[in-house]
Amino acid sequence: MQGAVDRDSPVNISMPGCSGGRIVLVSGRDFELLVIGSGPAGQKASVQAAKLGRRVACVERRHMVGGVCVNTGTIPSKTLREAVVYLTGLSQREMYGASYRLKADITVTDLLQRTNRVIEREIDVIRDQLQRNHIELISGEARFVDPHTIDISVGGGAARVVTADKVVIAVGTRPARPAGVEFDDRTILDSDGLLNMEQIPGSLVVVGGGVIGIEYASMLAALGTKVTVVEKRARLLEFLDDEIVEGLMHHLRDRGVIFRLPEQVAAVEQAQNGTITHLASGKEIAADAVLYSAGRRGATEELDLDAAGLEADDRGRIPVGPTFRTNIDHIWAVGDVIGFPSLAATSMEQGRLAARDAFGESGGAMSESLPFGIYAIPEISFVGRSEQDLTAAGVPYEIGISRYRELARGQILGDLHGMLKLLVSSTDRRVLAVHALGTGATELVHIGQAVMALGRHRQLSRRRRFQLSDARRVLQGRCAGRRQQDRRACPAEASPARSPINRRLDVHIHGVVAPVPIQLAGAGGGEDFGAMEELQSREREISARSGEGRCAGCNDRGAGDELHARQLPVPVCDASQPWPPTETMTGSPSRSREGLP
Ligand SMILES: Cc1cc2nc3c(=O)[nH]c(=O)nc-3n(C[C@H](O)[C@H](O)[C@H](O)COP(=O)(O)OP(=O)(O)OC[C@H]3O[C@@H](n4cnc5c(N)ncnc54)[C@H](O)[C@@H]3O)c2cc1C
Repeated sequence: MQGAVDRDSPVNISMPGCSGGRIVLVSGRDFELLVIGSGPAGQKASVQAAKLGRRVACVERRHMVGGVCVNTGTIPSKTLREAVVYLTGLSQREMYGASYRLKADITVTDLLQRTNRVIEREIDVIRDQLQRNHIELISGEARFVDPHTIDISVGGGAARVVTADKVVIAVGTRPARPAGVEFDDRTILDSDGLLNMEQIPGSLVVVGGGVIGIEYASMLAALGTKVTVVEKRARLLEFLDDEIVEGLMHHLRDRGVIFRLPEQVAAVEQAQNGTITHLASGKEIAADAVLYSAGRRGATEELDLDAAGLEADDRGRIPVGPTFRTNIDHIWAVGDVIGFPSLAATSMEQGRLAARDAFGESGGAMSESLPFGIYAIPEISFVGRSEQDLTAAGVPYEIGISRYRELARGQILGDLHGMLKLLVSSTDRRVLAVHALGTGATELVHIGQAVMALGRHRQLSRRRRFQLSDARRVLQGRCAGRRQQDRRACPAEASPARSPINRRLDVHIHGVVAPVPIQLAGAGGGEDFGAMEELQSREREISARSGEGRCAGCNDRGAGDELHARQLPVPVCDASQPWPPTETMTGSPSRSREGLP
């Protein structure tokens, strides 16, 4: 053999005379991939690599299988929220009166019972996933000895040293604890400590109005705790749309939450009956407990990054390139340890992509329009940009707002405060953003996400019939000023709500006419995805036959025109066509333009 063999990865070498002409040299290291951390990012990196047929191990500290996500973050906080909403009867009070409660004296045990059960089951699910993919789960704390060697302290002074061709760092974060604040995990707590509290405090100061702080503030307020939120910025949750933040603050004030912003905390001290928080403005707030929720740091301190040739920033985060590779060629970093957006689902996707990249498989790019959920009470979700962002970027838009109180479903659920807001481009009518506040917000947003991801226009949502007819109404929003204008410009928009019908559409694109039989569900009916898909595939066929797939006669040739022409079920861009265009309907009710919804 000529030349040195690179031991970093298995090599394929052509050998004349060998069957198939290839010999695979397998590296002599213990694992092809070692993943540090079993949170969402580490799990998915491990499973992906195992599915690619690699020898994989995942190192995790004892009692932390599943990461922060399962043990102290996402899952416990969301379960706690569910327990609070259920036991307080909060969601039923609109129906049964302000005094309605499922349980009068809710204790920490009541709340944690549910949380612990969910955590146990989640851990079991993760262990099973790792096992059935033949991933070795090594219990202990990892640190680099050199770029390919990792020392794992397994407790009681014992250690195991393993080597790996490639490494994925998925160590997540831990709560930042400001110097000078004496955390006792009883009266002065961080979000980890909150899950171990012994009793529900009568009063609580929440330092930091970020996502975690607001989620817990809203839960404790729902339990009857007198909550004060102190935030150094003038506005809470700056990445959210202003109107949604206003709605949230209104709700929380209604439950007695006091906001102190912008205010700096100068000091926190333990007092005889709890705590005193001193603000830089001179105010003093006495409370049973203080929850510090002032950011998180990458959990990189124990890793000895130097030994691997890596460096973290001042918040413990590891810089990475577009495929999550660090400055060391065979080491990737994923999940919260690389910083924004620090969400469970995003971390999973990063883990998967990193593992694919590590073994030379392309994984596609991360979606740009990822939805964001905040499980406060009330729930918040959005996908796309806020009004203030669009304004700053000079993007013209129209606003459509639907309020739950105007929908039968809102009445039925007893949520009269929820709202859904659509931001729609004034130029090409694409949905730019969906913002929701209220029951089911984090579910509803996915419909908007799908519409946005498909590059669809607002009218798509009108044409699609959602199972919950009120959801359809909500999603449609009311982009009032545009509506009549849209219909004039686009005959397809004039399609009224109708009972289920079979239709044959003659689609015109570039003078080519093709009959497309479809069935559309009527108002209040289910969605007919099959028909839409068939329609789209027929349209693609037609587009291919007609050349470039643009509408002839379209006056509105923006960047989205091609999609516009391809994805809508009638020749929408051709405003010169008579209405209805060449459309044959069988068994349909009569329609008129006056009958528009
Ligand atoms: C209170 C709270 C609520 C949240 N709510 C949501 C939510 O609603 N939605 C959402 O999407 N996200 C939420 N998050 C964020 C979400 O939990 C994180 O985005 C996600 O857990 C990040 O996954 P990860 O794999 O990067 O890291 P983690 O889940 O943090 O896992 C990292 C793991 O690495 C292990 N580890 C660290 N160092 C070592 C070492 N040296 N050796 C061995 N193991 C090590 C740790 O023990 C840990 O188990 C919340 C977070 C918190 C704190």
